[in-house]
Amino acid sequence: MPVNIESNIKRISATLPEGVTLIAVSKYHTIEEIEQAYNAGQRHFGESKAQDLRIKQQALPSDISWHFIGHLQSNKIKYIVPFIHLIHSIDSLQLLQEVNRLAGKQNRVIPCLLQIHIAQEDSKFGFTPDECRAMLDSGEWRELKNVEICGLMCMASNTDDSEQIRQEFKTVKELFNYIKERYFANKRFNILSAGMSEDYTIAIEEGSTHIRIGSDIFETH
Ligand SMILES: *Cc1c(COP(=O)(O)O)cnc(C)c1O
Repeated sequence: MPVNIESNIKRISATLPEGVTLIAVSKYHTIEEIEQAYNAGQRHFGESKAQDLRIKQQALPSDISWHFIGHLQSNKIKYIVPFIHLIHSIDSLQLLQEVNRLAGKQNRVIPCLLQIHIAQEDSKFGFTPDECRAMLDSGEWRELKNVEICGLMCMASNTDDSEQIRQEFKTVKELFNYIKERYFANKRFNILSAGMSEDYTIAIEEGSTHIRIGSDIFETH
């Protein structure tokens, strides 16, 4: 059976509680496939390569909100600075400083999430919870006027053990609450980006506000 992107979008959207944003992860998919999702009403899309994202952004309608979800290299930031809606994958203070510098040149304030390394795999990027608290304690981020830290992002372990996945999401939610209270008491800090095709229902139960779904939308299953 061919993939029905439109019905997948509608099926998933219908199950989401209010306040949860669906990001369609289109990183392996063409402009035509993205258009099908767009025509089903989808407006938030996620990509993991800066140059691909730039090309798709230029080819597609301007009312799409583009999310950057991959590992971001400093020399690629320039491709996305003019239009990016949210960068989910800040994994060092240096990267945040460089996004700030380039955003300043364009008079933008770019919303960013800190990526938390919580999974068992070494392959995933991000701050450990300790590194994240240490970075925030340093206070240097407070001087950055062209980025706004507005939440956390994480990826759970790639495992069938749903209790482990749930525990990882709980850990990140606790860290989120702690950081919000300690560093962002009177600020907007309200995004928890957690959950992919395999684990988004658990992520939502554990407090996710933004789910990132690729294969469940764009592939047969
Ligand atoms: C690819 C990717 C997703 C989507 O994964 P699916 O399993 O296809 O839903 C979500 N988040 C990140 C960071 C990704 O790289």
